[in-house]
Amino acid sequence: MNFTDFNFDQRLLDGLYSMGYDKPTPIQELAIPLIVENKDLIACAQTGTGKTAAYLLPILSKIVQTETRNLNTLIIAPTRELAQQIDQQVEGFAYFLGISSISIYGGTDGAAFDQQKKAMREGADIIIATPGRLLAMLTSAGKVDMSTLKHLVLDEADRMLDMGFNDDIMRIINYLPTDRQTVLFSATMPPKIRTLANKILKNPEQINIALSKPAAGILQQAFMVYDAQKIALVKHILTEKEHNSVIIFAGTKEKVKELNKELQRSKLSIKAFHSDLEQSEREDIMRAFKNKEVQILIGTDILSRGIDVDGISLVINFDVPPDPEDYIHRIGRTARAESTGTAITFINQKDQRRFFSIENLIGAEVPKLPLPTFLGEAPLYQPEVKEHRPFNDFKKNNGFKKKPKGVNHHTNHPTTHHSKPQ
Ligand code: AMP
Repeated sequence: MNFTDFNFDQRLLDGLYSMGYDKPTPIQELAIPLIVENKDLIACAQTGTGKTAAYLLPILSKIVQTETRNLNTLIIAPTRELAQQIDQQVEGFAYFLGISSISIYGGTDGAAFDQQKKAMREGADIIIATPGRLLAMLTSAGKVDMSTLKHLVLDEADRMLDMGFNDDIMRIINYLPTDRQTVLFSATMPPKIRTLANKILKNPEQINIALSKPAAGILQQAFMVYDAQKIALVKHILTEKEHNSVIIFAGTKEKVKELNKELQRSKLSIKAFHSDLEQSEREDIMRAFKNKEVQILIGTDILSRGIDVDGISLVINFDVPPDPEDYIHRIGRTARAESTGTAITFINQKDQRRFFSIENLIGAEVPKLPLPTFLGEAPLYQPEVKEHRPFNDFKKNNGFKKKPKGVNHHTNHPTTHHSKPQ
């Protein structure tokens, strides 16, 4: 199938070709005709599948054909980074179409709030917004007219519910006309998404892009480690060979800061990305990372969804993510749009049952690599064992000399095969 099969306006085709799009991805093949036909839609698709274009292209195609131009589409996304990225994609696709968009998100100062509100009142074809800020706009003085709205898109709906935006979304929907088309994209389909969908969609079509599987181009590997070995291991991986662009995920922002401090000493080009930074700092860091001025980014799961940076060659999970789905989102930062990349996860004893759930979810065993010998012995991967003893003995011995009591060590066999989840 080709993009020409959708009867898109030539200027829209020119825009997407100039962005390097050649053929539609599976989610685009399925979603575009349904959205063009004005059907409500629930689509289960991760980032990396081309989901953004799957809803933007048919909507842009419809906007081009409308005679009176006013606010047409509202896209709600969980984070400002994702909102900005969607906005950039609209700009690219709509380059030859003269369709306008604005993004509305929090974390900016009062002046920016007023500017965003002014832009919203002056009008645009498409508004891309995070729920909290949009609701603040809709409920503050000075009416924003939503009555002309034809399309509502909820992007990464599961993430928005995880972030506690359910009530905000429901309140926003009260401001929207009921005869709209609603499209919901979500990486996962837990029952709460179904409940939301039942409330706000009408007879939706459903698409499921065989998900919960990482892209085939990702080489997945793991190391069993004690916590005390993690920093040395991460330094080893980063310096052993050159990596273009690396993301390191850690469980909390405190850990992100701590790891950043440790790694700054190694003269690598590194930045930490966390929610304590000002919006402008976050934007500067992200820009520098995209431009490859910064080689390594350390962050929490705030980085794991939707961040669209090409050419990330390595993702390191300093901790096993608590939610198996987050593993897929984290490692999905590499190997985007059919390129290849490596994802390495550090598993301590406490996290091995979590990692086992991840392997269950992806339907594949991730090879456990042997630790470099200078790091000493690694704990054994025994996810079936419920309780693991604390490693005070190990810590007392500075990590490497004496076996912790009650634990058998072994060295895993090296393996080079690609884990290929189906
Ligand atoms: P998304 O799933 O929307 O986050 O998209 C993932 C990446 O794939 C983005 O960099 C898109 O620009 C890119 N992409 C999406 N669709 C296509 C396509 N049909 N051809 C080439 N690249 C695409």
